[in-house]
Amino acid sequence: MSKYYLTTPIYYVNAQPHIGHVYTTVAADALARWFRLQGREVFFLTGTDEHGSKIENAAREAGISPGEMADRMSKNFRDLWVAMEIKPDRFIRTTEPEHQRVVQRVFLELSARGDIYPGVYEGYYCFACEAFLTPSQGSLCPDCGRETEKISEPTYFFRLSRYQEPIRAYFQAHPEMIQPERAREEVSNLLNQPLPDVSCTRRCAWGIPLPAEMAADPELTIYVWFDALLNYLSGVDYGQEDGRFKKTWPPDIQLLGKDIIRFHYIIWPALLLALGLPLPEKLFAHGWWLSGGEKMSKSRGNVVEPMEFARTYGVDALRYFLLAEVPFGLDGDFNEAAFRKRYNSDLANDLGNLVHRFAHLIRTRHQGRVPEAGDGGRLAEKVLAALPQLDERMAAVDFFGFLETARTVVTAANHYLDETAPWRPENNSGPVLYNLAETARLLSLCLEPVMPRTSGLIRSRLGLEKLPADSNGLRWGLTPAGAAVGEGAPLFPRLK
Ligand SMILES: [Zn+2]
Repeated sequence: MSKYYLTTPIYYVNAQPHIGHVYTTVAADALARWFRLQGREVFFLTGTDEHGSKIENAAREAGISPGEMADRMSKNFRDLWVAMEIKPDRFIRTTEPEHQRVVQRVFLELSARGDIYPGVYEGYYCFACEAFLTPSQGSLCPDCGRETEKISEPTYFFRLSRYQEPIRAYFQAHPEMIQPERAREEVSNLLNQPLPDVSCTRRCAWGIPLPAEMAADPELTIYVWFDALLNYLSGVDYGQEDGRFKKTWPPDIQLLGKDIIRFHYIIWPALLLALGLPLPEKLFAHGWWLSGGEKMSKSRGNVVEPMEFARTYGVDALRYFLLAEVPFGLDGDFNEAAFRKRYNSDLANDLGNLVHRFAHLIRTRHQGRVPEAGDGGRLAEKVLAALPQLDERMAAVDFFGFLETARTVVTAANHYLDETAPWRPENNSGPVLYNLAETARLLSLCLEPVMPRTSGLIRSRLGLEKLPADSNGLRWGLTPAGAAVGEGAPLFPRLK
């Protein structure tokens, strides 16, 4: 069984989780569930990034300690993931002692190799983004556009310049590591200018102390980004003899938002090269959700509150919309009208109606028992042809294409139902309804990564709770004749 290690960025606990966090994490959860279904040994890591002056300041304003602040805010993310049916294998927090040990150990190791050295940082710093600016960036933050502050402080530098050529050579040999393709241009632009060495400490009390072995300024702590990137190592027990590191490394895919490309495609690979570790197979930078064509912000009043949508329309409808509406690398516009349209057409009319129609016919014409199988015919062919395509789309991190393929199966099943008209007394309804039940069973497996609750509802409606919900279930003809088909509320009540 081959392993599949995937990560999301860990989220900074200075604010409430928003739709962007939900997007990345739902996407990761869908991949984790799909590859688990395919029999891979999946390890899905996410978590929270908890150090830095922003947290320190927010805690001071709230009159609590930074640790209490981090506890409180980190919990918001964990609670939201439970509500969204997101099931990571590990939720890491950068305040965990084991993570801190890994960060200090890496710091010491890189110092010993001359990849970390003392100096003085003179330049601009964006406190909002916790980002050092390079000299060519001027004083405006390239990420948030804010005016930044000039600081001068003793620091340790990471010798990024040493890895400019090795990274360029690596990407030339492995362009597929940078996903989607359109991110490659931005990465190559970054690599076409000289990469200066970067600060990897800050004068900030709320951070991981430098290793005790290094006689350092006691006010310096390890820079929050350096600390955060290393969670991908500590999250799989890097440095522990009997930990999972050996069988898990390197990551098969790491998801990120396109605003943190420099950290993930430049600094992160450089750190790994410095440590002599294999690089991830793929890094995928996805797009942003805009609202009315603009970035969401409190001041514009156009922020989408994820829980509100989940409460109104259901968690599955939200997960579905996020992954079905736009290709994963592109920006999308999150608006309620588009959401309701997609809900009604794809979920209420197509999928929900399909299940409702044939289940009703099985109840009225076959005493609520799945009839005997006959010839699977063209519907079986259609479904079986879709299975490898679905796997291909998921392997390409193409949720949009995956769901498009799934919809062709739903549409084919609805047409089949219309054409075979099993409600007419003169038609032999048994084999037709069997084929529809079997199609729904396979759909419930394939849609589980995106809509876990709906998948469970379809299976229980068909009395199939006991059938394998793993790769053994991805064959035609497993629905047993005689399974009891239950009455149930519509999966997706139509919106007026
Ligand atoms: Zn900024």
